[in-house]
Amino acid sequence: NITVAGDAMHPMTPDLGQGGGSSLEDAVVLGRHIGNSVIRNGGLIVQGDMAKAIDDYVKERRWRAACLVTGSYISGWKQQGGAKWWMKFLRDGVFYKYVFGWIAGLVHYNCGNLPAVSSGKED
Ligand SMILES: Cc1cc2nc3c(=O)[nH]c(=O)nc-3n(C[C@H](O)[C@H](O)[C@H](O)COP(=O)(O)OP(=O)(O)OC[C@H]3O[C@@H](n4cnc5c(N)ncnc54)[C@H](O)[C@@H]3O)c2cc1C
Repeated sequence: NITVAGDAMHPMTPDLGQGGGSSLEDAVVLGRHIGNSVIRNGGLIVQGDMAKAIDDYVKERRWRAACLVTGSYISGWKQQGGAKWWMKFLRDGVFYKYVFGWIAGLVHYNCGNLPAVSSGKED
């Protein structure tokens, strides 16, 4: 029953400013899966179910993390790629016109709610 979160799970370049934000998303998603498991099991931590909760957390987070790591890297690579004509063309003619809008949209994300464990209501 061991997992990782934050930079340990998805170290990324600083170009989207999402390292800390996505670490907080991890915390909410992990908290939700653990909380729902505790609720399902009448307030108890049950080993098999906890392993499933952690597995579900990883499944929910991995593509989000992969997109942020990749988007951040591409964004930085383009910005710091130098001033050669082909890089200018890629940056201004392709990247900022067609790709950056999608990458920038990654920062708008709702990671969901935490369950109300005290009232026993799953989310
Ligand atoms: C200059 C800079 C600017 C940034 N700007 C932004 C931004 O604008 N927006 C954004 O979202 N993110 C930003 N980030 C990224 C963000 O700070 C990190 O992604 C975030 O702090 C990761 O959180 P974390 O809890 O995973 O790791 P950390 O914050 O690194 O926490 C890990 C903790 O574990 C401790 N630790 C390490 N080893 C051990 C050990 N053996 N035993 C006990 N404790 C240990 C460390 O001391 C540390 O306190 C920035 C980062 C930097 C460096």
